[in-house]
Amino acid sequence: MAEVSGFCGGVKRALGLAYDACRQCAGRVYVAGELVHNKEVMENVKAAGIKLLRDYDLKKITPEDALLIRAHGCPRGQWAKFHKLFNTVIDGTCPHVGRVSKMVECESEKGKYIIIIGDKSHPEVQTLASFAKDDKICIINSEEELDHLQDNLGQVLVIAQSTIDESSFRNFANKISKIYLHAEIKDTICGSSRRRQRAILNFKKKGIQAVVVVGGIHSNNTRTLVQIAQKIGLPAFHVETATDLPIQKLKTFKVIGVIGGASTDEETTKQMVANLLTLGNQMENPSH
Ligand code: SF4
Repeated sequence: MAEVSGFCGGVKRALGLAYDACRQCAGRVYVAGELVHNKEVMENVKAAGIKLLRDYDLKKITPEDALLIRAHGCPRGQWAKFHKLFNTVIDGTCPHVGRVSKMVECESEKGKYIIIIGDKSHPEVQTLASFAKDDKICIINSEEELDHLQDNLGQVLVIAQSTIDESSFRNFANKISKIYLHAEIKDTICGSSRRRQRAILNFKKKGIQAVVVVGGIHSNNTRTLVQIAQKIGLPAFHVETATDLPIQKLKTFKVIGVIGGASTDEETTKQMVANLLTLGNQMENPSH
């Protein structure tokens, strides 16, 4: 099991705020979008009474109800709308996302053009992009999009989605520096993602033969971990629960590394390790 496991700081904080709100709020607690991209965690959150805010809920909101902004943050334009709808809005934005949003806002006010390396459909990227002024922003996720960048953007600031692969950020940043010689590069990958990505690289150094990555199918940071493992030649299996473990395939490896994504409970990852150890014992002692 990788040394780094369990919820990242941002997810832990947002979940804590969600459960506190459930205990303290006299009305219902809504969350603006999936609190985390993890089915198991979302089931627990829903069981605690937290509701996903949907359009049809808007007419039913009472003064006692509260809204939680998730760790990915929320686009700047939506804040006013939410404050109009709810008397209580709880900011669960991850502090890292908050700091990078502030950076985008400040540098954009100085006139810089912002380039975000990341997935434009991801809520965190949409939050960051909303802090840029006058549409002086673009989001890049492929070489092709890089080729379409105009050459007269003025002063440029390049930042990263918090969960993207460090090496691909470096690759994009190098290429952009060659186009815009004075571009300022800020590696804004968060500490939690960086540590998990490096844990995968360490798996390879330790002679681990395959990797099981535990996390939500739609979790961006979990998918990145799978891709990093595959990129360095380690077979990688993305599983959400123990029932997803591809037992037959895993039986062909002697040493398996297990790591959880940022929105995966440490207990779930530990359970996965326990299941694999049981499988290993059964293979060594088939009669038991
Ligand atoms: S992955 Fe990083 S940026 Fe995202 S919530 Fe966790 S700590 Fe914050």
